[in-house]
Amino acid sequence: MGSWAAQQRQEARQLAARLSAEGVRNVALTWVDNAGITRVKTIPAERLAAAAERGIGMSPVFDVFTSDDAITASEHLGGPDGDLRLFPDLERVTSLAAQPGWAWAPADRYDQLGLPHPACQRQFARRMTERAAAAGLELRMGFETEWVVTRAPAGHPAPGRADEPLDYPCTGPAYGMTRVVELSDYLRDVTEALSVQGIDVLQIHPEYAPGQFEVTTAPGDPVRAADDVVLVRETVRAVSVRHGLRASFAPSVVAGEVGNGCHLHTGLYRDGTSLHRSPDAAWGLAPEATAFLGGVLDALPALLAIGCPSPASYLRLQPSHWAGVYQCWGVENREAALRLITGAPDDPDGGHAEIKTFDAAANPYLAVGAVIAAGLHGIESAAQLPPPQTGDPGALGVRERARRGIVRLPATLTEAADRLEKSAPLHEAMGEVLHGAVLAVRRAEEAHFAESEDDAIAAATRWRW
Ligand code: GLU
Ligand code: MG
Repeated sequence: MGSWAAQQRQEARQLAARLSAEGVRNVALTWVDNAGITRVKTIPAERLAAAAERGIGMSPVFDVFTSDDAITASEHLGGPDGDLRLFPDLERVTSLAAQPGWAWAPADRYDQLGLPHPACQRQFARRMTERAAAAGLELRMGFETEWVVTRAPAGHPAPGRADEPLDYPCTGPAYGMTRVVELSDYLRDVTEALSVQGIDVLQIHPEYAPGQFEVTTAPGDPVRAADDVVLVRETVRAVSVRHGLRASFAPSVVAGEVGNGCHLHTGLYRDGTSLHRSPDAAWGLAPEATAFLGGVLDALPALLAIGCPSPASYLRLQPSHWAGVYQCWGVENREAALRLITGAPDDPDGGHAEIKTFDAAANPYLAVGAVIAAGLHGIESAAQLPPPQTGDPGALGVRERARRGIVRLPATLTEAADRLEKSAPLHEAMGEVLHGAVLAVRRAEEAHFAESEDDAIAAATRWRW
């Protein structure tokens, strides 16, 4: 233990020296709160070794912050008392290409005695990854990032006021090459910044809504995937600011329009072999992969309180908007909440599944942890998958949907929070303190927007994520 600590100290010192040689002055230590906001403490680069050893102080009250920076309380958390220590993950320290002189590291939260903080979302994600590993299973996950870009009025780079009209810097059609031509310098700079930061970009392209783009990155370990999506978002934001633009990752930028999703891709492996590539099995799904996905599908109503955590999320969740609002799965079906992706037959990694319903207001650490918990519960309870759905369930009549056993996922945050409250597997996996804090934040968000019209909810949350 002593030698491990000494080695850590040594590594941190070497890292701090390397950063300072690269001209890094500050390191941003981020964690994501239960409302999905990335919060930060920053330190001078030379404090990194001390931070790695003793952590940086922060209040536990952030676990009950809402997306509008109000503070609620849960049974265990809230109020001005107490302190936690924020520990940077030295393996993820990254110099930021679009913020010269800055580096970033995701952080884990411990109490002052060095015990894990029970509401630390990143450690929850790690615990669930380890729980899967103890069963011989490995998850490879990745998030898609969608965002809407607008022009920032001169002298007001960020954040946008709710009442400002949206000024799109590109006018080209959905998925149109015109948009790439109009914003080619910007998109190149986003790609380059991500690449030099070690993010493996798979695609970057225009999306459907006005000003909307998407970047997808390579899958990896679940905690890494959650770290990556934080880094991707803050990098897109930083490049946008440098181009006089603003990026919104909010679920609903304009009420009624197609929104921003943050789909979670998830593949299951045993001993390095994909369980989505089982010879002779239907769709290549090994029994464990079927049970895992069956568990996720069963838990989706409760998982929405994690993956779609804002009242604004439910403005996005409209049928026939590719947001996956029905509790069903389908093979390559973009209207199914759970889309099975079979990939090219000769690609050993080709098969996996995509949860389409989630958005970027979700804390990505909670999202990966809760999905793993639901999937492992599916394996324990030998969950099955119903027949796959082809076509758009939203285009079917109510009776035909009922005949096929397809139900709508929660259409309000209240409904989703009620399901999370009652979910025994998620309660057990998250633990009392984290589960309680998440629910308290959901209830406070509901109450805050209870009287608001759709347009007002979209405007109030547009620049929060
Ligand atoms: N923007 C859509 C959403 O709200 C998704 C479009 C797509 O399938 O990539 O999730
Ligand atoms: Mg997309």
